[in-house]
Amino acid sequence: MHRAASELTAARARVRTRLYLPGDPGAKRRTPSDLNVNQQKTSQYPVYRTSPQKTSRPPGRASFPREGPRQVRSRTPLTWPGELARILSVENSGVPVTAERLVVVGGGPAALEAVRAYREAGADGEVVLVSADEYLPYNRPPLSKDFLRGESAEDALPLEDGDFYRRHGIEVRLETRAQALDPGRRVVTLSDGETFGYGWCILATGASPKPLPVPGAEGPGVRYLRSRRQARELRGAAAAARTAVVVGSGFIGCEAAASLARRGLAVTLVSMEDGPQAARLGNGASQVLRAWLEDDGVSLRLGAEVEAIEGGRVRLAGEADAEGELILVAGGVEPEAGIAAEAGLALEAGRVKVDEHMRSSVARVLAAGDVAFAFNGAAGRHLAVEHWGEALAMGRVAGQTAAGAQASWAEVPGFWSAIGDRTLKYAAWGDGFDDASLVDHGDGAFTVWYSQEGVTVGVLTHDADHDYERGRRLIEQRQPPPQLPHHA
Ligand SMILES: Cc1cc2nc3c(=O)[nH]c(=O)nc-3n(C[C@H](O)[C@H](O)[C@H](O)COP(=O)(O)OP(=O)(O)OC[C@H]3O[C@@H](n4cnc5c(N)ncnc54)[C@H](O)[C@@H]3O)c2cc1C
Repeated sequence: MHRAASELTAARARVRTRLYLPGDPGAKRRTPSDLNVNQQKTSQYPVYRTSPQKTSRPPGRASFPREGPRQVRSRTPLTWPGELARILSVENSGVPVTAERLVVVGGGPAALEAVRAYREAGADGEVVLVSADEYLPYNRPPLSKDFLRGESAEDALPLEDGDFYRRHGIEVRLETRAQALDPGRRVVTLSDGETFGYGWCILATGASPKPLPVPGAEGPGVRYLRSRRQARELRGAAAAARTAVVVGSGFIGCEAAASLARRGLAVTLVSMEDGPQAARLGNGASQVLRAWLEDDGVSLRLGAEVEAIEGGRVRLAGEADAEGELILVAGGVEPEAGIAAEAGLALEAGRVKVDEHMRSSVARVLAAGDVAFAFNGAAGRHLAVEHWGEALAMGRVAGQTAAGAQASWAEVPGFWSAIGDRTLKYAAWGDGFDDASLVDHGDGAFTVWYSQEGVTVGVLTHDADHDYERGRRLIEQRQPPPQLPHHA
């Protein structure tokens, strides 16, 4: 009885929340409620998909990691308020708990979903979330869409307010970089020199914009778009500019170009491709995207090679410069896998190679989100994806794995994009196709079916939700697309 009571006290102490703020050494530990963050829980942004994962709760005592489950039983009435009382009452009802520290490196959707899933699976280990970002995890998809257009406010961006972290007993370190991981000693070293031993470590470090490999690409006035700060600064610059050049015709480049044009700027989109996203989505879809962008007033400079950026000019090989008061480079991203590489984790395609449970090549280290090259159970192979919904899904699996639950990643990856006010829905393994057939439904609606050796590997739709859902099923079941002949 005494032991159970003291364990409960210890559990309460463990779930005490600390939120460490940079530049605040005197009163370094403050509760999230001290922060001036949006106190209203934001709903999920509509242009990305979240999908339930195939998981199960921890099956009794059997599946916990090496140290094994502990059970905390107490007849002491619980007096902790709100959500925390619920967590503690889960302990109290006899669900096994882990008493280890989980260190999550990263401050994006994969990191947030990992800590959420860890708690929801009933684990009560100490949780530390270390993020290089200055803000609590926030929505990135709006940054190139409604936020850039000036149609949504910055205080609508946080995914959860500070109270969420307090209630779930999650210690958050903002503006703190994890600098080294020592899997032998199970220690993470932070940029401020502090070290954290861990029972489990989840790497959710995401990706960063790739600078163009040309002179001047990182010079003053050349903008990139990944973080909330960059988005705020871009939006501020857009408010004062009349002209813009966007370099890169991936989704972020196309979305940002359309958003800037809708703000009234004269926008030039420069791309090496012969059509926006031609390599990724095929010629049919690329032509549609081109028409949409031109419709929004964006001028396209296609098949153009950037030689340098200097003083508001983007110098192009063999043709006239593209000029803009505002220059945004959207040339793709690089996974943030440096810490993993130095720690000796197996990498492939520049990402941390993990199985369907998000386990890396090293014991007790998991990875999730853009930084992961994860095995997808439905695809039967590893995939590199950079989608919001997948970051959430993989983060969830990682959190459940750390909690000892059975979880695996087996969804068809996909995302929604918005170019101006047109929504595209895309689901695909994303690693190639040998045929792309566009079906025009009239009134601008269309479906592109992607196949490889006659088997559906992707679907892209605009105003054709029925096909999108059907496509997801066909991809998962490895069936041919509807309008192609059956292959044996
Ligand atoms: C403008 C924009 C629009 C987008 N729109 C869409 C969309 O419509 N649909 C869609 O599916 N996807 C979209 N994406 C992509 C989507 O946002 C990413 O796939 C997703 O954010 C990946 O999540 P993540 O958690 O893996 O990594 P990230 O969101 O990149 O988060 C990683 C975090 O880790 C932190 N970090 C990195 N290294 C360290 C370290 N060593 N120590 C501590 N912290 C570290 C970073 O500061 C960052 O906070 C968009 C992306 C951008 C930039």
